[in-house]
Amino acid sequence: MSRTDRPPSACDIAVAGGGILGLAVARELIVRQPEARICLLECEDRLAAHQSSHNSGVVHAGVYYEPGSLRAKLCVEGASRLRKYCAERELPWRNSGKLVLATGPDQLPRLDELERRGMANGVKGLRRVGPEEISEIEPAARGISALHSPQTAVTDFAAIADAFADDFEAAGGTIHLGSPVLSAAEPDSGGVCLRTPAGSVEADRAVFCAGLQSDRLAVSCGGSPEPRIVPIRGGYLKLRPDAEDLVRGNVYPVPDPDLPFLGAHLTRAFDGSLLIGPTAMIAGARDAYELFRVNRRDLGDTLRWPGTWALMRRHWRASLNEAANSARPARLAREAARLVPSLAVADVIPGPAGVRAQALDREGNLVEDFLVEEVGASVHVRNAPSPAATSSLALAELIADRTLA
Ligand SMILES: Cc1cc2nc3c(=O)[nH]c(=O)nc-3n(C[C@H](O)[C@H](O)[C@H](O)COP(=O)(O)OP(=O)(O)OC[C@H]3O[C@@H](n4cnc5c(N)ncnc54)[C@H](O)[C@@H]3O)c2cc1C
Repeated sequence: MSRTDRPPSACDIAVAGGGILGLAVARELIVRQPEARICLLECEDRLAAHQSSHNSGVVHAGVYYEPGSLRAKLCVEGASRLRKYCAERELPWRNSGKLVLATGPDQLPRLDELERRGMANGVKGLRRVGPEEISEIEPAARGISALHSPQTAVTDFAAIADAFADDFEAAGGTIHLGSPVLSAAEPDSGGVCLRTPAGSVEADRAVFCAGLQSDRLAVSCGGSPEPRIVPIRGGYLKLRPDAEDLVRGNVYPVPDPDLPFLGAHLTRAFDGSLLIGPTAMIAGARDAYELFRVNRRDLGDTLRWPGTWALMRRHWRASLNEAANSARPARLAREAARLVPSLAVADVIPGPAGVRAQALDREGNLVEDFLVEEVGASVHVRNAPSPAATSSLALAELIADRTLA
């Protein structure tokens, strides 16, 4: 069967969304139920077209997350499973390590808290290092204290998503590209009916891993009207090829405790390029790969959601800073130069961008943890922010448990 074939009119389980998470879930389901007819519907003409191929490519070790949260548990488990999977399948992987760098005394209490969290989460090899060791690990970095996580790695999540797709198809699953799920409903006769332009797919059960569109599909299926997805654009800069070896691994700032993002960091990507970013700016479209892209429906939904205004009121200073960094690359480069002072603004060139699917409640709180909602015979992933790519194999187990319960 070809990936361009139209979806079947009936199957046992339908998965909507061919990003790394939908593919990990489809793979997990077919491993557990090899006889089941499982199909995956992806609206784009290729897999992993959105967040799964527009990210930092960092396999997080689990330092940041609140102990006991799903993110803490599934990041540590997921990174370990992904490490084994990539080794078995000879997929991209480099253990490049990471420094979270405090550049001033005011950041030390937050670094202490991160150390406490990392230790509670069982992050292997995590330890505090002083200025001398900072220079040994990353000669260009400067700081008064840092957390060093040697297990942090870089990979190519799109390549991993492709490998998941191959496993799924080899086990008998079918993938249908160019098949947007327009809406879904639960008929009185049971199961789930997914409407696509090529006709309806009747499934006994369905899983929705639709990333930036996840709230719309959940609501159409009778799910909770809250939270909604707000697209948060993350723009990167790159260093010119001749300046790329400024950093060996990953250098991160101590993050702002009020925001669920990690702050603009320097990442030596698997392909050797050096990325600076990402910024975090509310976008005018759910596919705002260009800075000023606007989609009227997306922007209207964002502006009509009361949480957007509450968020901007609460974080107006950070919002303005991120908007300025997005519009003026030199400003973002200077911010990164606080971590690596020899970084020259002249060496910086424009880089790629990604759009985060960030769930936001009515009161303006960004939903930090992974959120999975069950509605009748369907399971909806309502929030899968970073580190969901790192956690994909472990998160897929949790979603499969709920789907087959
Ligand atoms: C800038 C940025 C940096 C990041 N850095 C990291 C990192 O370093 N490490 C990490 O672990 N995570 C990182 N993340 C997070 C990570 O990329 C995501 O958590 C992860 O990719 C989510 O996967 P997904 O499959 O849920 O979403 P997606 O990859 O967005 O996939 C959703 C899929 O659903 C499809 N779809 C949508 N609507 C429909 C529909 N109606 N019908 C059918 N298909 C539909 C889409 O086309 C898409 O292919 C980052 C994210 C961003 C944006």
